[in-house]
Amino acid sequence: MADISIPTNLLPADGRFGCGPSKVRSEQLSFLASLQPGVLGTSHRQAPVKDLVGSVRSGLLDLFRAPEGYEILLANGGATTFWDSAAHSLVEKRSQHLAFGEFGAKFGKATGAAPFLEEPDVRSAEAGSRSQAEAVAGIDVYAYPHNETSTGVMAPVVRVAGDAGALTVVDATSAAGGIDFDASQTDVYYFSPQKNFASDGGIWFALVSPAAIERIERVTTSGRYIPETLNLAGAVENSRKNQTLNTPALATLAMMDEQVRWINEQGGLAWASARTAESSHVLYDWAERTAVATPFVSDPNHRSQVVVTIDFDESVDAAALSTALRANGIVDTEPYRKLGRNQLRVATFTAIEPDDVRALTASIDYVLERLS
Ligand SMILES: *Cc1c(COP(=O)(O)O)cnc(C)c1O
Repeated sequence: MADISIPTNLLPADGRFGCGPSKVRSEQLSFLASLQPGVLGTSHRQAPVKDLVGSVRSGLLDLFRAPEGYEILLANGGATTFWDSAAHSLVEKRSQHLAFGEFGAKFGKATGAAPFLEEPDVRSAEAGSRSQAEAVAGIDVYAYPHNETSTGVMAPVVRVAGDAGALTVVDATSAAGGIDFDASQTDVYYFSPQKNFASDGGIWFALVSPAAIERIERVTTSGRYIPETLNLAGAVENSRKNQTLNTPALATLAMMDEQVRWINEQGGLAWASARTAESSHVLYDWAERTAVATPFVSDPNHRSQVVVTIDFDESVDAAALSTALRANGIVDTEPYRKLGRNQLRVATFTAIEPDDVRALTASIDYVLERLS
């Protein structure tokens, strides 16, 4: 393959289409710079940093149109750490997990490995499709991803009508801030900031209901051994004081704060959701009309508006395609590493301009004509 040079007029203004860490907006960096020296490099136990945390927490409550009594929790560690926290201090006896991709399955593995819990009820589905939650007696947590980042499948946020007191716990890592939903349908809506919030990794956030807070209190006083860094009761106590158990990344919080403010100012979650729907449709429509490409997710109702996966027929080497794009500054279009498909995966997160997604399709067309 000779080097393919995409003409500048076809290229997107910003070539970052990865699923996380994802495109950071320049305005977020300007905001970060404005916190020097007042906030950056200062104590996380003093007002300037606590006010920043408070601003993120109240901005998220606005963004999610949180029902009365819901709170925002945060702690160090990211969504992966949240799974261990939930296994230790949220699941009482037995959880049900929808596993229709890597991330949903991983939470099921975390509860499956916990010796103090019963074997979880894991409902799997082929990559590219999705499984269905079902009320089962004795289940106290129903868990599923709002958006399965590994495959580009999204699921509606709806409560599972199980036993009284059962909680609905949604992994919103790649959905939060990019897909509209009704918060009253969940008890825990948790996520990391490096996807639609265009920030950096290392912290998890969660919108939690009063029922979830009550559950955390019950499980954490049950006598079970819970490591301090994983104890959600500590996250409740510290978050209410706008702090974390140990030192958080201030730059991550700052970039998060600016992104939440930007989305709220633009029109909130409804605006963000319309924008990601527009961007993703550009790609799905392109794949439908391109002979060598097909949307990987066959049911249009399951197709994600924030992570688009496109399969290529065998006449196209998708790995060579993403390599050629990368050489032209269009990065991170490779598929999820463990999926092993002849595919491109493209994030259409809120920070990404729909016009840049249009330019991406023009750039792909240009490369396709010259690959072989
Ligand atoms: C990225 C991602 C995770 C993992 O997030 P970390 O911050 O790396 O722990 C979990 N779930 C989903 C759906 C994701 O997209």
